[in-house]
Amino acid sequence: MFSRILIANRGEIALRVIRACRELGIETVCVYSKADADGPWLRLADKTVCIGEAKASDSYLNIPRIISAAEVYNVDAIHPGYGFLSENAHFAEVCRDCKVEFIGPSPEAMARLGNKVSCKQAAKDAKVPIFPGSEGAIDNEPDAVRIAAKIGYPVIIKAAAGGGGRGMRIAHNEAALKSGLKQAAQEAQSAFGDGSVYIEKFLESARHIEIQVFGDKHGNALHLFERDCSTQRRHQKIIEEGPAPHLDPRKRDDVAKSAARLIKEAGYAGAATVEFLLDDKQNFYMLEVNTRLQVEHPVTEMITGVDLVKTQILVAAGEPIPFRQRDLKVTGHAMECRINAEDPAKNFAPSPGLIERFSAAGGLGVRWDSHVRAGYRVPPNYDSMIGKLIVHAEDREACIRRMERALAEMVVEPIKTSIPLQLQLMRNATFRRGGQDIHFLERLLKH
Ligand code: ADP
Repeated sequence: MFSRILIANRGEIALRVIRACRELGIETVCVYSKADADGPWLRLADKTVCIGEAKASDSYLNIPRIISAAEVYNVDAIHPGYGFLSENAHFAEVCRDCKVEFIGPSPEAMARLGNKVSCKQAAKDAKVPIFPGSEGAIDNEPDAVRIAAKIGYPVIIKAAAGGGGRGMRIAHNEAALKSGLKQAAQEAQSAFGDGSVYIEKFLESARHIEIQVFGDKHGNALHLFERDCSTQRRHQKIIEEGPAPHLDPRKRDDVAKSAARLIKEAGYAGAATVEFLLDDKQNFYMLEVNTRLQVEHPVTEMITGVDLVKTQILVAAGEPIPFRQRDLKVTGHAMECRINAEDPAKNFAPSPGLIERFSAAGGLGVRWDSHVRAGYRVPPNYDSMIGKLIVHAEDREACIRRMERALAEMVVEPIKTSIPLQLQLMRNATFRRGGQDIHFLERLLKH
């Protein structure tokens, strides 16, 4: 087992990893930027080291500086969290060259499943349901026109290397497809350094369902059921829950098994999430694979009782997954609200700054994963998420009631947060009956 791990991240996820390490008796080294010098999570790390300026490219994305810190502090492994370098195959490779274990998949498995085009091919081989669309990247207009005519408009043009909802274009007809192709390729080139794009059928109404999967270095792979992340704004998830409401259990089972098969065939070790859209006839279509821990992993932890971060560490150290598929079952219902420092009343404008008054929700079935406290200044440099409120209860209805009461207990002042919007959602009739789709929140915000 590792004796010391470096955490190449910040905020709530750095804290989440510190907590898992503490329970495993592993020392932690936290790197941080100048903007995070007062980060409360740093007080819980065994060692801390400032690696640069606030700008992520000078700190949390700076591979030479992170590797130097790993060498100086003689760590056995690096946990990348989510975001930053977590899906960077080059970084995973540098770690391997430096004989530091990257807590995540091998660079090869990451590259294969992280690229949307090669992932789609792997999915097809593993019989994972995929969208009708182009087989690989599209490099000429006539091919695009022919494929779009075959699958029918509307279609969506996406970047092979895409992420964060960028580089996507919807085309309702041939003219829009032709102009969109060029724009999408240019956008992809400048955002991801890879201009390859592909097209697939665009679903007007769909739910976002994802399967949590796990693989190890002994060839085992299994799934830990699903999460519904349909409540989104601009492709950013706001609320996640599990199990997904109104899902046909047989279809859920089939798709979950196919997701486990996909990572098994890719020789994948570690945590991953296979994301799908679900149409109104309950057909699944794979969107992509996230080759890392997700923000919303606590939802799965609450319904299965599995500590996903500890499991990541054990698997990276070469141990087999410490449970079998048949040992896993879902208990009750869990929901997560991402609490963001932004103002829903002002078009979600960022609201960083000093938190003067703070009090977290508590009580039975409530979990608050966050690094913030009174006196903490939310820096303007990074993601606006300041914490995750997660609740667990015997069923979905009880879970919503518990979330409503927990949200109402939260005090985060004077900065603005997403809490009022989430409270409104807990009281929304469509949400309460589990009727949300991926456009539901944006429709609601227009009124
Ligand atoms: P990214 O990696 O940028 O997050 P995804 O492929 O995961 O991109 O898609 C992000 C979101 O875009 C989805 O959750 C969904 O809302 C929308 N989307 C993507 N593909 C489709 C599609 N074929 N039909 C309808 N909506 C889509």
